[in-house]
Amino acid sequence: MRNFLAIASLCVPPALLVSVAGAQTQPVKLEVDLRDAPRRVYHSRMEFPVKPGPFTLVYPKWIPGEHAPNGPIVDVTGVGFRGNGQEIPWRRDDVDLYAFHCNIPAGVTTMEATLDYLLPKEDGSAGSPSASAQVAVLPWNLVVLYPQGLKTDDVMFSASIRVPAGWRFAVALQTASSQSPEAAAFETISLTRLVDSPLLAGAFFKTYDLSPGQKPEHRLNIAADSAMATTVGKDQLASLRQLVAETGALFGARHYRHYDFMLALTDHLPVNGLEHHESSDNRGPEKMLLDPDSLEGLADLLPHEFFHSWNGKYRRPVGLATSNYQEPMKGDLLWVYEGLTQYYGVILAARSGFWKPEQLREYLAATFAALNEGRPGRTWRDLEDTAISVSILYGARQAGSSWRRPADYYEESELIWLEADTIIRRESKGQKSLDDFCRKFHGSEDGAIKVAPYTFDDVVRTLTSIAPFDWKKFFDERLHSHGPGAPLDGLEASGWRLAYSDALNDHQRAAEQTDGTVDLSFSLGLTVHAAGDDVNSIVDVVPGSPAGKAGIAPGMKLVAVNGRKWNPDWLRVAIREAKNSTGPIRLLLDNDEYYQTLEIDYHGGERYPHLESLHTADVLSEIAKHRAPGTRQIE
Ligand SMILES: [Zn+2]
Repeated sequence: MRNFLAIASLCVPPALLVSVAGAQTQPVKLEVDLRDAPRRVYHSRMEFPVKPGPFTLVYPKWIPGEHAPNGPIVDVTGVGFRGNGQEIPWRRDDVDLYAFHCNIPAGVTTMEATLDYLLPKEDGSAGSPSASAQVAVLPWNLVVLYPQGLKTDDVMFSASIRVPAGWRFAVALQTASSQSPEAAAFETISLTRLVDSPLLAGAFFKTYDLSPGQKPEHRLNIAADSAMATTVGKDQLASLRQLVAETGALFGARHYRHYDFMLALTDHLPVNGLEHHESSDNRGPEKMLLDPDSLEGLADLLPHEFFHSWNGKYRRPVGLATSNYQEPMKGDLLWVYEGLTQYYGVILAARSGFWKPEQLREYLAATFAALNEGRPGRTWRDLEDTAISVSILYGARQAGSSWRRPADYYEESELIWLEADTIIRRESKGQKSLDDFCRKFHGSEDGAIKVAPYTFDDVVRTLTSIAPFDWKKFFDERLHSHGPGAPLDGLEASGWRLAYSDALNDHQRAAEQTDGTVDLSFSLGLTVHAAGDDVNSIVDVVPGSPAGKAGIAPGMKLVAVNGRKWNPDWLRVAIREAKNSTGPIRLLLDNDEYYQTLEIDYHGGERYPHLESLHTADVLSEIAKHRAPGTRQIE
């Protein structure tokens, strides 16, 4: 629909070295200097082939995988253009603030452009931090300009890099020449592929082979804030190798020359993951691989981003397969792009051994219970609207999320795809599963690094070819439902149902240990920070819950419980004691310096979600069982 052309994978035919500004047939030269990364500045110098006349350069606005117009233009500084040693004045477009207009003087055939990108220290409206004192991630879109109006497939770049002395780096691009361990020039490649290949650099750097002796190669590259943090345990390495094997068994084709997981482990970058064809940009806490609770919470991070190489990068909804970074994206099919990835990220985490079956069930219980009980927002906003609204919801704060309804096309799609999986198994009498859909939808054109766009009808058609069913009606109902509650039929068809007890859910326990959030959503109806910058703050309150009825609101600070200074243990004791009494739980709250005691009339005791067997066929365990031969046993 958007004429997103396939990219040649292994070579660059001369015809693709197209004219830039209609004058030249040579690539843009790009030199990026990361030596000031610890001081949070990236330096960039570009040379554009030009011809005399009006010329406009643009800064990437809509970033692939972020689905939002959030290219951090506010921190693009020091912009300067020169030709034949003379400054070329520029003027920003009055409406499109991402565009810089200039006039190329007669006789100028190469224009030099320089800019600095200032990295934010904190996550916020200005963008996301990408460097710490010891680690730097370079998404190339931060440091490039390109000619307005061209397709990013058609603009070729020859990039080179310098990193701080003693640092090492990894990138999915092929190296054309290397002057030293800290400097290299890369293959000439389209801007699409350049931005799709972020670079990871750091002082403490280690690379692990995830498919020894096999082609294509798979590697895990870790840059961390300490040498200790780059250590991958024997079990973890076995799981990572199993993950590679599981995707082979699932899809039967790969869309990369080699695959590089980039993993930045530092407490100074927000936890995040961004997908690419031949690599992924993953960011976790420094002790992610050393602390079992941290790994429990992030077990599906690498599986999720890896799955995206097939679902999101190779197959992409037409609305997200845009021709360049200025063209707006449409997120309505993110319940496939992100939702199917979210489902399989979790399933592959289990198939690879990152999660034991009971850990998977605890994760699912916590997730599904939150969707079922903690989302009054579904009464006004349907699931599809959370996808359409992606570019505004990504920046939404946690406060108010149960009523606003966050980006539920991630987690609620787990329920939808689980149900689809059980329907395929039922309709095909156990002969087919959702894996067959993945193989058919994502598993053709082995080795091709390209985008194959799809529509809603393509998804329905492929599912129908696997198992005839009214899939259009199935998705329409789930995408446009207003509840009550989450669509739990798939969970029950998989042999399990939500049940509650006073025993803490293990996934919630791990989350509380790592991020300090006490989750009492299923009893009082509130979450509260017990640690961190926002300590004592009420994170969210479910409208209509006991805490909501008592008048408690997000942003208030919890001071005391039943007259005593609060901590998580005392709050839980108060809930337990209220179970056997008729008196309220009294919370002293600080609301913008005004103190107030609010009474919660709740006597249901502690209440945490778990999955309970229905004693029917255990389809969930069958889905989560590893499929590839036992790579895990090799180690
Ligand atoms: Zn994703």
